[in-house]
Amino acid sequence: MTNNAHIFLRKGREKSVLRLHPWVFSGSIERVDGTPGSGETVDVLASDGTWLARGAYAPESRIAVRIWTWKKDILVDADFIKERMRASIQRRSSLKDDDDTTAYREIFAESDGIPGLIVDRYGSIRVVQLLSPGPEHWREAILEELAQDEGIEAVYERSDADARKREGLAPRRGYPWGDDQPLQVTIIEHGLSYLVDLQHGHKTGFYLDQREHRKRVQGLDKPGDVLNCFSYTGGFTCAALSAGADSVLSIDSSADVIDLARQNVALNGFPEDRCSYLVGDVFQELRRFRDSRQTFDTIILDPPRFAATAAQAKRASRGYKDINLLALKLLRPSGTLLTFSCSGGISSELFQKIVAGAALDAGVQAQIVEWLAQPPDHPVNLHVPESRYLKGFIIRLST
Ligand code: SAH
Repeated sequence: MTNNAHIFLRKGREKSVLRLHPWVFSGSIERVDGTPGSGETVDVLASDGTWLARGAYAPESRIAVRIWTWKKDILVDADFIKERMRASIQRRSSLKDDDDTTAYREIFAESDGIPGLIVDRYGSIRVVQLLSPGPEHWREAILEELAQDEGIEAVYERSDADARKREGLAPRRGYPWGDDQPLQVTIIEHGLSYLVDLQHGHKTGFYLDQREHRKRVQGLDKPGDVLNCFSYTGGFTCAALSAGADSVLSIDSSADVIDLARQNVALNGFPEDRCSYLVGDVFQELRRFRDSRQTFDTIILDPPRFAATAAQAKRASRGYKDINLLALKLLRPSGTLLTFSCSGGISSELFQKIVAGAALDAGVQAQIVEWLAQPPDHPVNLHVPESRYLKGFIIRLST
C-alpha cells in the first residue's frame, strides 16, 4: 500500500488510460482525494474505484497526470526512475559503440516510459531537459544517475523550453555543478564534425532526429547545386558538401545559426567558395528565386513545426503546400527534393497529399523514392500516436 493521493476519474474517462496512453487531462478528473504537490506520485482510479495506474501530478497543467506505471505493485521512487533511465540508455548501446557518431538521444520522454524527460548525449556531455513536474520532482535522482556513467564529464540542464510554462515551472539553464564547463562542444556525426551551442541552440543544441537523413544526403550521387532551406547550423549543408555538391546555398531566418553553419563548413575543411548563405525568410526567398528564374538540382525543406496538434493542421497544410510548391518549381529536370514535416498534427498520409497537391499546382510530375521517419533513438510509443512526429519524402522529378 502507498500513501499516494487518489485521483478519481469521471465516469467513462478511464478508456485512454486503459489503452496505455500516459496522459490524464484535467477535464477527466472527478475529484482528488488528498493534497498532492506538483510532481508527487498519485494513484489514478476509475469512477467506481478500480485502480488503474500511478503517475506524476501536475496541478497547473492541462495534462494533470502523466503515468509512470500501470502495475499496482510497482513503487515509484528514485530507484524506479533510475532503473527506467538505465534501460532507456542501454537500448542505445549500438549507437554508443559507433565511433563515427558521438551525439544521439538517450531518453525520449513518453516514448521511453519517462514522460517529460529528454536526455541527449553530445560526446562526454549529457544535456537534460525536465519538461513536466514529474521529472522536476525527481531532479536530484535524475542528475545523479546521468552523472555517474563512465565517460560522462558533465551534465548540462536546458530546462528552459516554453512547455515548462504550461506546467507552472520556471525556466532553468546551466551546469548543475561547476561553471567552468564548455558551452559549445564539437560532435561527430557520420564522420562529419559539428559545433553545438548548448546554451542557445534549439532543442538541446542539435536536431539529432535528422541524423539518418543527413546521412542520406551524404550518400546522394551528384547533388549538383543545392538549396538548403531552414538550414539551422548547416547539418544538411555539410552533408551535401561531403556528397560533392557543386554549390550549397543555406537559408535561415536566424543570423546566429547561419554564423555557426559557416563555422561548421570551415571545421570540416569544405571549400568556402562553394557555399553561400542567406539570412532571410524562406517563404519570401523562394518567391524571389522563382521570379528571378533561379533553379537547383537538389532542394532540402526542413521547416520548424507548423502544427503541434491535429486542430492546427489546416493552417499548417497551407504553409507546407506553399513551400513545397515553390521548391518543386525551382527544381531542374530530374532534380531531387527532400521535404520534411515535424508536426505531430500532420500525418504522413496528409503530408503526402499536400506534396502531391503542390506538384500538381507546380505543373510537375514526381515520384517518391523514399519515405523517411524519425530514427530509432527517437522511438514512437505505439500507444501515443502523436509521438510519431517526423516524416519526410525523397522526391524525384519525373522526366
Ligand atoms: N535542418 C536543420 C534543422 C532545421 S530547424 C538541421 O538538420 O539541423 C528549422 C530552422 O528554421 C531553424 O533554424 C529556424 O531558425 C529556421 N526558421 C524558422 N522559420 C523560418 C523562416 N520563415 N525562414 C527561414 N528560416 C526559418
